[in-house]
Amino acid sequence: MPKTGTEIGTGREKKEMGIRTTIILLAAALGAALPLAFANAQMIARPANSDVPIPMGTTKGLRPDRLVIRGGIMVTGRGTPGTGRAAPPEGPVDIVVENGRIVDIIPVDPVSVASGLSEQATGDLIIDATGKYVLPGLFDLHAHIPAIDRAGDDAIAYSFRLWLGHGVTTLRDAGTGAGLERMTEQRRLSEAHQIVAPRMRLYKRWPNTGRVGGAGHTPDEARRLVREFHDQGADGIKVSHGPGHHPDVLAAIVEEAAELKMDGVIVDLKVSETDARIASEAGVVSIEHWYGVPDAALPGTQNFPTDYNYLDELVRFRLAGHLWKEAVEYPDALSDVIDGMIAEGTAWVPTFSIYEANLDFMRVVTLPWRDRFVHPAILEEWRPQAGVHASFHSEWRTADEIAWKENYRYWMNWVHEFWSRGGLLGLGSDSGSQQSLYGFGLVRELELMQQAGIHPLDVIKIATTNSARVMGLEENLCGIRFGCVADLIVVDGNPIDNFKVLYGGGFAYYGTDRQGEGGVIWTIKEGEVYDARALLREAEWYVEQDKR
Ligand SMILES: [Zn+2]
Repeated sequence: MPKTGTEIGTGREKKEMGIRTTIILLAAALGAALPLAFANAQMIARPANSDVPIPMGTTKGLRPDRLVIRGGIMVTGRGTPGTGRAAPPEGPVDIVVENGRIVDIIPVDPVSVASGLSEQATGDLIIDATGKYVLPGLFDLHAHIPAIDRAGDDAIAYSFRLWLGHGVTTLRDAGTGAGLERMTEQRRLSEAHQIVAPRMRLYKRWPNTGRVGGAGHTPDEARRLVREFHDQGADGIKVSHGPGHHPDVLAAIVEEAAELKMDGVIVDLKVSETDARIASEAGVVSIEHWYGVPDAALPGTQNFPTDYNYLDELVRFRLAGHLWKEAVEYPDALSDVIDGMIAEGTAWVPTFSIYEANLDFMRVVTLPWRDRFVHPAILEEWRPQAGVHASFHSEWRTADEIAWKENYRYWMNWVHEFWSRGGLLGLGSDSGSQQSLYGFGLVRELELMQQAGIHPLDVIKIATTNSARVMGLEENLCGIRFGCVADLIVVDGNPIDNFKVLYGGGFAYYGTDRQGEGGVIWTIKEGEVYDARALLREAEWYVEQDKR
């Protein structure tokens, strides 16, 4: 009994269907396919397959009493405890969700069915995942939720649609421009399923004001500031400084955050007094990017030219591209640094994708998804210019790119080494700047983890249960297992074979007759079902509006 109205699931029908959620459906009015149709009193979820952008706010999450994801190949994101070996794909299986938790995983492969042990599950909302892959929701451990006006009037909602549209259900915000007052409210609304948003933990960025008084540059000031951020609702602290980042201050920040039972402290060390060894011994949760790791292996300072100036970003990034090459001259020292991190339980979130502009600037400014998905205000920020952080590429040279390519090779080798010795890797994109967009940058990060020599199944484990462990959320966000929170994504294609199928907008098949296929179809956050492609079409609509 397919419906053709603009709203279904209300009134009598809703009662009959046993669906409590009101399902708003504007697809018909907008020329898109109906997302839902009925079959034997169970509702079959149908994604609105269309290229037509739709207004922001059109797509609502569905929260059925009992959801069945039918017949997909699952990748559980789990594996040997610790950082090791990931579990293999299994399927087809029916995954049943009630009250935001996974309550059944039923194998429906021919052998299981013939054994008579597998009965097909029923529910009031059915997602047909036949031929699709089902994975746990992805994490972005290095997110920068934008300031509200960074991209038009609704930048935060735009970024949330890009993340959810790429299957990202959990964000660790590494210092938001939107302020704690607004973001703690967004965090609450997201937890209450009242807005379209990933789950988020908020890490307040340490003030980055050189050595100005009052900005947390002594241990006492630091303790006071941590208490202040805690009272404002911060979950954790992100410290990212230049040379004025003192070890005694970091130690005080970590201690105070631990005393207040906050999630912890993460660090972006850049070139500072504190290196990865000091930060790790101080007890930080994770080293972000890579700064501080090679530095800790050098016997003295990096071989800077005599006119080096840290505050000149172009020069700073240019010379950063030579650092690993110097450090690998001291392999024993490097080995000690990463062994120390592993012994202290310090995680590493490399954010490979954010520095790709340094490898090949022309590549990143000609990516096919830019026109449709990057907000014009962000594009303007990305234009090389003085005065905007990370937009330093005005005089980027062939030699700089060659140096950075070599830098990546050593960096990836040591990330692989850290991981293979049992170090805890997390997945983070740092997207928003340097030509990397929310969601798209995260998929790229998966590709680069694979390039570092890690099997795609292990990469998925890193992007899900290992990242949950980095955030201290592993008890509930434990991948696909009975009892775990139902953060799940249904993917059109096999991401283990090709991570590119995760790019929204069908860019895995760019320019072919399969264009429009691929991407995440459904993103499920704690049992709430979102049409992922529709969310991306909303982001596209928003960009289109603001371009006018
Ligand atoms: Zn960052």
